[in-house]
Order: sequence, then structure tokens, then C-alpha cells
Amino acid sequence: MSTPPHTFPHPYRAFTAFLGASFGAGPPPRRQFLPAEFRETLLAGAGERLPLLDAPVLAWALAERVHDADYLRRWQAGEVSRAEERALGFAWSPAVVERGLASSGATLAATQDALALGLGINLGGGTHHAYRAHAEGFSFLNDVAISVQWLLDEGRATRIAIIDLDVHQGNGTASIFAAESRVFTVSVHGANNYPFQKEVGGLDVALPDGTGDAAYLAALQDSVFSALHAFAPDFVFYLAGADVLEGDQLGRLALTPAGVRERDDRICRWAALRGLPLALVMAGGYNKSPQTLIAARLGTLEAALEAGGLRV
Ligand SMILES: [Zn+2]
Repeated sequence: MSTPPHTFPHPYRAFTAFLGASFGAGPPPRRQFLPAEFRETLLAGAGERLPLLDAPVLAWALAERVHDADYLRRWQAGEVSRAEERALGFAWSPAVVERGLASSGATLAATQDALALGLGINLGGGTHHAYRAHAEGFSFLNDVAISVQWLLDEGRATRIAIIDLDVHQGNGTASIFAAESRVFTVSVHGANNYPFQKEVGGLDVALPDGTGDAAYLAALQDSVFSALHAFAPDFVFYLAGADVLEGDQLGRLALTPAGVRERDDRICRWAALRGLPLALVMAGGYNKSPQTLIAARLGTLEAALEAGGLRV
């Protein structure tokens, strides 16, 4: 897909691994993932709202700043056990490694956009279950952790908040930064959702099954914003998981599309009104209705772009 010919009323763009050669061929690795024909619909809808750019592939050296060197070597070489494949959720293939690098490259590019423009977007990413030395939950590389480490190493940010609103706890991210005082991990998730052994992050809010818009937004208002205010970040990552929606095949909460849009508006506006660079990644979404998932994704993009309008 090429960039649409018309111009956009804002400077923002989105990076995506979906455009790369390793995408689009064959069925998705899990039945819960968006089917290929609907991925095209999502890309077309996103492309009407902002330019889409092919993800740059991440350099292995940047992954090594977060992940164990032997772990990376084994996954690069395909020396992966059945138990490791089960933990990941699908079989190893060269494409798994390529997609991990492309998705992490897209998140790093979004991070660099956030520094330059205020807002950066990966139309994917958010593989927050990847630990330093093991893969799980569809996550081989922890893309956000890699970008966080890049920001710290390059001296481009010193207090980084990760707002992880995917329905599943960001266990890998919490583990990776457990001893890093410059990083504050926030996770709002389903108490009874995977992972069943949760890590301790900076702020963890576990919600009961069936939580709807009002209770979810109240939790956001009561806990999350006060904690963010107290931490006073100079850079923000937002994992805008759509698996909080009612009808998600892997989630136990019950937000409506309007509730998700309100959530996204509040997070994006909070960052924009404070002039904080925001890197947005989409994270999980496995709705029974592909149309509902696509509408939520496009709503997330619109929330980010509208809040981005407050910056310029
Ligand atoms: Zn998830």
C-alpha cells in the first residue's frame, strides 16, 4: 500500500509491520487474530486518516540492550523447544522473528516521531508479555521495553511512564523494569485474565470479569491519573489494547466501543495537554466481530490525532 495522495491536516503518521513482505501471506498464526481480509480493511481505514509507513526493521543490537543475548541467538537460529512454542502461543518460524523485529522497529520509529512531533504511532506492537529471556503470550520481543531502553541510553528521556491498558497484565514489561526507577509501569487489566501469575508493576489495577465503561473509567480516574501525576513523566508510552471490549475472545471485560473511545481520549488528551511526547501502540484485540475491532482501532487513531491537534 502506498501513501494516499491527499494531504492530512496534521503532521502525524503511523508505522506498521503489516505492510512488510512477511505479512499478508497465509492465515494468521492464531484463529483469534484478525483475518487477512479484515487487516486490509483496517489498513485502508487507517490510511484515510494518516500516512502509513512500512516499519523499519530493528537492529539486533538494540534488542540485546533488553533481551538476553543467548535467548536472542537461539530464537534467531530457530533453536526453540516445543514448551517455548506453547508459551508463545504458536510455532516458531522465520516469520515470527521477522515480524518481531519489524514490529519493534515500528515502535522505535514511533518513539522517535513522538520526540520530533509529540505523537508517534505503531499500528501494531505492544508485545508486553516478552521477558528478558523468555517468550510468552504471542510476545517474542518486548517492543516497548526496547524503545524505553533506547530513550534511556540515548539520554532522550529520564522518567518514562508506560500506560498499559491492554486487558492482560504487562507482565514482561513489569519484570524487565522492576529495578529501574526511571520507568513507571501502569497496568489496568482483568483480574482473571492471563497471565495468571501476575508481576508487580508500578501500579496494577485488577478489574473483575464483566467490568463495563463506568467502573473502568472510574478506576482510570481514581488511580491512574493521580499515580501518573505523582511520577511526573517526561515521556509516555500508551498500549491501547482493544481486548477490553465486550466480545473479545481472550478478554473478560465488557467495555463498549464508546467506552474505549472515551478511555483513549482521556489518555491522549492527558499527555497532549502536558506537552508530553506520546508513543502509541495498539496491543491486543481479538474481538469475535472483526468490524467492532476495526472500529475500535480507528477510534484509537482518531483519539490520538484529535489530542495531537491540541499540541500544534
Ligand atoms: Zn491483551
